[in-house]
Amino acid sequence: GLSTCALQQLDSAHYLHPFTDHAALRERGARVIVRGDGVYLWDSEGNKIIDGMAGLWCVNAGYGRTSIADAVHAQMSTLPFYNSFFNTTNVPAVQLAALLAAVSPPQFQHVFYTSSGSEANDTIVRMVRRYWQLAGRPEREVIISRRNAYHGSTMAGASLGGMAGMHAQGSLPIPGIVHIGQPHYAEGGRGMSEAEFGLEAAGWLEAKILEVGPDKVAAFIGEPVQGAGGVIIPPSTYWPEIQRICDKYDILLVSDEVICGFGRLGTWFGCELMGFRPDLIAFAKGVTSGYVPLGGVLVGGRVAHTLIDKGGDFNHGFTYSGHPSACAAALENIRILQTELLVERVALETGPHLKACFAALVAHPLVGHAETCGLAGGLNLVRRKGASVHDCEAFASTHAVGMLCRKHMFDNGVIMRAVGDRMIVAPPLSMTVAQIDEMVERIGYCLDLTLAEVQA
Ligand code: PLP
Repeated sequence: GLSTCALQQLDSAHYLHPFTDHAALRERGARVIVRGDGVYLWDSEGNKIIDGMAGLWCVNAGYGRTSIADAVHAQMSTLPFYNSFFNTTNVPAVQLAALLAAVSPPQFQHVFYTSSGSEANDTIVRMVRRYWQLAGRPEREVIISRRNAYHGSTMAGASLGGMAGMHAQGSLPIPGIVHIGQPHYAEGGRGMSEAEFGLEAAGWLEAKILEVGPDKVAAFIGEPVQGAGGVIIPPSTYWPEIQRICDKYDILLVSDEVICGFGRLGTWFGCELMGFRPDLIAFAKGVTSGYVPLGGVLVGGRVAHTLIDKGGDFNHGFTYSGHPSACAAALENIRILQTELLVERVALETGPHLKACFAALVAHPLVGHAETCGLAGGLNLVRRKGASVHDCEAFASTHAVGMLCRKHMFDNGVIMRAVGDRMIVAPPLSMTVAQIDEMVERIGYCLDLTLAEVQA
């Protein structure tokens, strides 16, 4: 095989990476990941790494599941691909549709397949607008989303997303997509209880609906817990109030469950934990634990029946919609989540344990506050701690300390992600209590290294 150095040279000569500073990458050389087993990865130099990010929030069942490989191999050997356009279907796609209907909230009896979360959200934009045409209200076109949301990298996905840096690079958002603030208590809740702030932040939706004009608004979309934005966990009052407002103005409610779906928060879907009842759900990632690309839209009865009974055709679809080999991977992955009770374990065992460990890390001089929800969590690194989240003093240049900490973790065999100075985790749902302890011990050691360097 090629040496690490040779691979790194070819990498920087030919490979344009997603969301990557290539100058920095060239300087360090990309780390070559060669193997995974359970919650661990190995690089080409033989270093063992504990994966606190489940790949990219997706390897819910953990690495090394040969039964998923076997299921995909069997399907590929029988029928690797066929399309579902023009009155054909295939066995795994049908079986998976029925299984998704069984594991999701009861209003979801239909699925539209894509290959990614971005395509799922693009599909949602088109589906929502098609729905309102068929419902005789074609002027309802505007979709409301949130600042600092992440909904993907396609034109519609990046527009729905509320990342200023992404909008700036592509003349986005596209017309018909507007944003409100995020329910981030540490950022906006000074002087309020969390419960009060949740109602306040949900009220921004009503204000935006009135500004746009209630008969022009088609839908509201949000992640139950914002993932890429930094594991932003809304107050418990937020989503029920969003539901009330959507009901009041008859607006479709869309839950982007690309991260929260398939057990991340200790429920099959995040909306179940957060207490709302969406009309549409975007999913991807955890549906196959990332073994093969697959995504889709769960379509609730209101939209599904209109599309089916009034629509005739919805002129939308992908070559790989309902890809048999991808659906075979999902069937086996969901079987693993069910038989190993991984979702229940997050709710009752591993999630509460991560919460206790993160609460203990707040004793570290660098950690201002910490939050978790299921197996997702965030630690805020601060210059000076305060009595409440609003009284901590941030570092002057945010990012620098987060990046430094991330580097120490990367070099010391634990993967966490830095969002500004907030360090986040979302490990495989198969992570055991003992492995959480191992991960948190390494995190503590890397916080010490970071502190020493900050103080120097
Ligand atoms: N929606 C959310 C909430 C996500 O976190 C992501 C990816 O991280 C996406 C959509 C986009 O999914 P994909 O990268 O599969 O296109």
